Parts: sequence; C-alpha cells; structure tokens
Amino acid sequence: DPVLRLSGISKAYNPGAPNEVQVLRGIDLTVAPGEVVALVAPSGAGKSTLLHIAGLLDTADSGTVEIAGDDLTGQSDRKRTGVRRADVGFIYQFHHLLPEFTALENIVLPQLANGVARKAAEARARDLLAQVGIAERADHRPAAMSGGEQQRVAFCRALANEPRLLLADEPTGNLDPSTSDQVFAALMALVRGTGLSAVIATHNLELAARMDRQIRLEAGQLVPV
Ligand code: ADP
Ligand code: ADP
Repeated sequence: DPVLRLSGISKAYNPGAPNEVQVLRGIDLTVAPGEVVALVAPSGAGKSTLLHIAGLLDTADSGTVEIAGDDLTGQSDRKRTGVRRADVGFIYQFHHLLPEFTALENIVLPQLANGVARKAAEARARDLLAQVGIAERADHRPAAMSGGEQQRVAFCRALANEPRLLLADEPTGNLDPSTSDQVFAALMALVRGTGLSAVIATHNLELAARMDRQIRLEAGQLVPV
C-alpha cells in the first residue's frame, strides 16, 4: 500500500459566501513507502491546506484520504486523531516547541503520551538528537538554542513516535540560507535513515531538487515538475 493516497481532494474556504476561496480542485497524490516528495508552490497556493488535509488536521469538501491503506474519509474524530498521533509527524516553519521544557523533554513528552516508558523515551530522544548533530543540547530550553537547533529539535519531536508519514511545511523557511542548507541536510539524513515517507513543502528549488520527486501546486491542482 502507498503510505499516503489522496484522491479527488477539493477544498473551499467560506463556501457560498462572496469571499469564497476555492483552494484545492481535485488533488490526486500517491506517496510510496520511503518516497520523499517536494511540494512546490507560491505563497497562498494552498500548501498548508493540502498538508493539513493529508495529515488529518483538516477535512476536505470532497475526495478521500488514505494513510497506509486505511481510508480515513468520514471516520470519527477519535479514529482520525488516533491515526494522526500514531502515523503522522508534522513540522512547521516555526518550531512550536514548549518553551518551559528542555530539548530532551520536548521529544520525550509525545512518546509518554503515546504510552512509551520514560526510560525508553529518553533513550530514543537522545538517539534522535545525536542523529541531527545536537546531542549536547539535550538539556537546553528552546530560548537557549539557535534557530537551526530549535528546528532540529522539532524534527526529532516529529519523528519521536516513529510515524509512517512526515509532513513538513517550509521546514527551513525561517532560517538564513546557509543555516537552512545545513538544517535541511540534517532533516534529509534523518528521513532517509528511517525510510520514512515525506511530503516537504518548500519555495527553495535547490532543496526540492534533492528529493525523489517534485510536484507543483498551481491553481488548485497538482502538476508534475
Ligand atoms: P499556503 O500554505 O500555500 O500559503 P494556505 O493553504 O495557507 O496557502 O492558504 C491558501 C489560500 O486559502 C490563501 O488564499 C489563504 O488566504 C486562504 N485561507 C487559508 N486558510 C483560510 C481560512 N481558515 N479561512 C479563509 N481563507 C483561508
Ligand atoms: P503558512 O505560513 O503556513 O502558509 P499562513 O500564514 O498562510 O500559514 O496562515 C496561518 C494560519 O492562518 C493558518 O492556520 C491558515 O489556515 C490561517 N489563514 C490563512 N489565511 C487565512 C485567511 N484569509 N482567513 C483566515 N485564516 C487564514
């Protein structure tokens, strides 16, 4: 089974109102196991909307969302939340780490919520931090870290519960270009190391070219690059 299959996804904001925005118009997208797809689109094209629908944070007006062969369309909120927590990792442009907790705790907490024992959760958190090259930052709070380090922690948190699918919305869009390159390389190494499938939205065509496949969101539809 593909890890993600979107079929005929359409979405409008404010449907029927004068300010209606038809953002997505029949999106079909299949992501195979281990495949890393670049989603390229200008700002306002609907990238975030598409990622939120794929990650079960929002619902489409029509079309179906399947994750690992499981059709989540019209399923209960409880079922969708369960699948989202177990199978989907999210990364945003801004790290959204909990400011009062250390890097380690930010990666441990979602595991505890998922039923992992503290010792195992800490071991996994330390291993992830080492993989992105910031093992020595484990006990720092977000405010004591650079922007690139904060994003690396956010990557670790997204992967903490071993999701099948990673959805990233401009994961390095907030960083200066040289930091962005290094942090992106760390993300790709992490993703390749786990064999995870990913959809990574970026404006950066150089970064997009390093992924397996590029798709462009244009006028509400996906076109190959
Ligand atoms: P992107 O991530 O590509 O910048 P978004 O998915 O955030 O695009 O938004 C796509 C379009 O939908 C934009 O025109 C945006 O203003 C509009 N939009 C997004 N969210 C809402 C909302 N909650 N209500 C109304 N319009 C929205
Ligand atoms: P991003 O940087 O991910 O594209 P945006 O700044 O476009 O995000 O949007 C941030 C949040 O505001 C999102 O949750 C989006 O759904 C919402 N939003 C975006 N545009 C609008 C809009 N025109 N009306 C209402 N909400 C919007």
